[in-house]
Amino acid sequence: MKRLAAAMVALLLGAWLSVPALAADGSLSGAVIVLDPGHQLGNSNPKFSSQMKQKRFNGTLVKGCNTTGTATNKGLPEATFAWRVSQVLKQQLEARGAQVALTRTVNSRNAWGPCVWDRAGLSAKVNADFFVSIHGDGAPAKGRGFHVIAPGRLKGWTKDIAVGSRQLATSMIAGMKQAGATPTTYLSSPLSVRTDQTTLNFNDVPAVIVELGNMRNARDAAQMSSAAGVQQYANQLATGISRYCEVRSRCR
Ligand SMILES: [Zn+2]
Repeated sequence: MKRLAAAMVALLLGAWLSVPALAADGSLSGAVIVLDPGHQLGNSNPKFSSQMKQKRFNGTLVKGCNTTGTATNKGLPEATFAWRVSQVLKQQLEARGAQVALTRTVNSRNAWGPCVWDRAGLSAKVNADFFVSIHGDGAPAKGRGFHVIAPGRLKGWTKDIAVGSRQLATSMIAGMKQAGATPTTYLSSPLSVRTDQTTLNFNDVPAVIVELGNMRNARDAAQMSSAAGVQQYANQLATGISRYCEVRSRCR
């Protein structure tokens, strides 16, 4: 009876928590991963307008330092959503033995940027194996679900990372789906290959941008705004990242 009672409690607890914690193991031991929580709260602060006005050529076109990002209709900023997911994900990856570097250390109205080319530059600085940028999309309200952006081949820019980034994107998509993520309903494919993304073009290691959902969609917005939802997004990303290292038997 005691054992049954314990099993019942475990079952009830599991149902209440609803999101199982990922196992802490050494499966990512030795991996060096850059997580890039998109945007920054201070990017919309007028006192940083001169910093935000910086522009650079990214191999395809001239683009700005960074943007303010989108928000849910109820006002949750993309910067805050990306920040929360990255904090949980960092812990999960570290529990699996990875070293994790973040491209920004605060989420504050009194901080700006960093510019996306500097975020990308962190990969080389920490000798990262790969780079995952975390965002929420601002698409028409009807569509929902995630998609992953990989860099297309650009000579002198991404030629060296295009294949690896594509592998990373494919693994992320498969792993995220396995962990219960809904693929985009508003694009034809959850894989998007683009040559106009500064964050990807300035990278020297396999790099992807993950748009975790559509912040303008009510269902996605509700998930993005809850602690359990943030945990789910982090689980999905961690599963995708682990899958990338699994299929290659290494992270590099
Ligand atoms: Zn974004």
